Amino acid sequence: MRNSQSVKHRSSHATEKEFGGTLGATCIPIFLPLTVLYLLSVCRSPEASVLKWPPVLPSYLWDPTAFKLLLGWVALHAFLYMLPVGKVSEGLVLRDGTRLKYPINGFHALCITVLLLMLLLSLGAPLGYLFELLVPLAVCSIGTSYLLSFYLYIRSFWAPNHALAVGGNTGNPLYDFFMGRELNPRIGNFDLKYFCELRPGLIGWVVVNFGMLMKEVELRDSPSLAMILINLFQLLYVADALWNEEAVLTTMDIVHDGFGFMLAFGDLAWVPFTYSLQAAFLVVHPQSLSALGAAVIIGLNGVGYYIFRKSNSQKNQFRRDPTHPSVSKLETIATATGKRLLVSGWWGLVRHPNYLGDLLMALAWTLPCGFSHLLPYFYVVYFTILLIHREARDERQCRTKYGLAWETYCGRVPYRIFPYIY
Ligand code: NDP
Repeated sequence: MRNSQSVKHRSSHATEKEFGGTLGATCIPIFLPLTVLYLLSVCRSPEASVLKWPPVLPSYLWDPTAFKLLLGWVALHAFLYMLPVGKVSEGLVLRDGTRLKYPINGFHALCITVLLLMLLLSLGAPLGYLFELLVPLAVCSIGTSYLLSFYLYIRSFWAPNHALAVGGNTGNPLYDFFMGRELNPRIGNFDLKYFCELRPGLIGWVVVNFGMLMKEVELRDSPSLAMILINLFQLLYVADALWNEEAVLTTMDIVHDGFGFMLAFGDLAWVPFTYSLQAAFLVVHPQSLSALGAAVIIGLNGVGYYIFRKSNSQKNQFRRDPTHPSVSKLETIATATGKRLLVSGWWGLVRHPNYLGDLLMALAWTLPCGFSHLLPYFYVVYFTILLIHREARDERQCRTKYGLAWETYCGRVPYRIFPYIY
């Protein structure tokens, strides 16, 4: 009772707004979908110039095949999600004291997808046709994320108070639609946010990449070294996320943010169609890459991946079991919540070593596209802004959670992401 009252109090007074408040929440759902379509159109134009005026616009937006493909794709992944394979994990304790159960079978879904792709390939399916369908597919995915967000917004009014996210309940419909009102919307046991977070969009990204590789094979008989590297690097990243799927249960997206347009669009449209931009760019703008250049890029991706994986694993291990030999000797500081903060190891280098590793990988994914165009660097620029903004959001939440202990941590570890720079 006490719990539900305090939640009621918090949800009805959630007035602090992020992402530029109401103005941001009104403009982003218009501006970002247009950005996806614009970038896809520019990257297939001969100049691929983001500075060209008037801007390049998509030549055709709708194709019923794209719609059917998307429906089939989402249905396949919903089916794989529900398969009783892999373990079942519990999420963090919710405000009503309960914990939700989640299937950890995303890696299985990726493996089955790869097997299906190989089967389609052996049957001679024209996978390169994905290149032609990119814009219509993006249009359908954007439409789906809008429909899903409307559904999520409406159904949230039937959710109990304790099931609402703290941030997305200001009473302003535009802002709440964007941020998401309900924390863990489910249909039966099917968790909509968790499903969208790592399945259709993330696995869709590597399938789009593979389609671009096959288009190169169609056009030039074999895939280029640059295309192979981008496909392998990004497949490694997606496989890693799904192999460590359980870790998503403690992220800001699952624990803190409601499920609204921001996450639905990000997961279903933004990730698969802007993260695959480098591969789509290479189809029309082939780049030659020397063996030395490839070796340097592979090295950069390796260093980035090492920092990213080691730092994420170190924190996850420490949060799961601080007495584990791999983390028990690390220096920590106590906080009033009973949790401790790491001040040595990776988390003593900068306050977000995992973001540093992620950004080094982002650069390695872009360098195979050469230096002739700005467009492939869109991902690095966007991702740097995203992670700087995300770091600031996390910092605010940690300051509220840990108070003085967080100040002490910031004093001990002054740099946020880049050692001696930022
Ligand atoms: P993080 O894994 O960075 O987690 C932040 C949380 O870690 C804090 O809220 C705090 O939570 C805990 N923490 C912070 N400092 C310490 C410390 N010194 N000791 C112990 N615990 C600490 O969260 P993200 O979800 O932002 O990132 C996860 C990964 O996902 C990152 O590698 C990121 O790069 C990646 N990512 C990728 C995106 C993409 O589009 N490709 C988008 C967003 C993220 P608490 O104390 O409550 O445990």
